[in-house]
Amino acid sequence: MTSAIPSNVESLVAELQKLPGIGRKSAERMTLALLARPKEEVAALSAALTKLQSTIRYCRECFGLTEAVLCAICRDPGRDHALLCVVEDPLDLIAIEKTGAYRGVYHVLGGVLSPIDGVGPHDLKLKELLSRVRNQKNHFRELILATNPTPEGETTVTFIREELKGATLTMTRLAYGLPAGADIEYADERTLTQSLEGRRVVREAKTKLPSRS
Ligand SMILES: [Zn+2]
Repeated sequence: MTSAIPSNVESLVAELQKLPGIGRKSAERMTLALLARPKEEVAALSAALTKLQSTIRYCRECFGLTEAVLCAICRDPGRDHALLCVVEDPLDLIAIEKTGAYRGVYHVLGGVLSPIDGVGPHDLKLKELLSRVRNQKNHFRELILATNPTPEGETTVTFIREELKGATLTMTRLAYGLPAGADIEYADERTLTQSLEGRRVVREAKTKLPSRS
């Protein structure tokens, strides 16, 4: 049987379908829409995709997206570098930045612990987070654990709390005006601002023992 769909159309549909939230129907519609666009527009899209791969990388410090070694947030001396917000992915960082309510720095984990899906501590930037917090030079005062309120997000928080049992900083969790299981990425700015302001302490800072002289 001959296929009614030219193979180049089929291969684009197949590629688009690999993206999150894109099913067969949407991929077909997008492909047809692209065919109908002027040549220059399609060329611009193609150039943007190529550039994305060659210019965007992960910040050496926080693992957010950047075009430099360090991202603009990590480089900004006007930010509160003693306040560290841990998020699952760069979209959560972008959502929190949009509120304008947060002036600290970030750590992007690149996901959450999920034994069912085979995601363990080594698949995330957890080791990097722990050494960042343990590094005395960083002087973190507070760690905001802003993973999503899902079972995986909570498991990840428990892991971090356990690992940092001996650390002296305060740990807080976002207060959610969101229903359980909701995604930070889709929260409106007002809800997210309230969540940040109403964050609760999950562990108080420990007073450092006076050093023996
Ligand atoms: Zn950074």
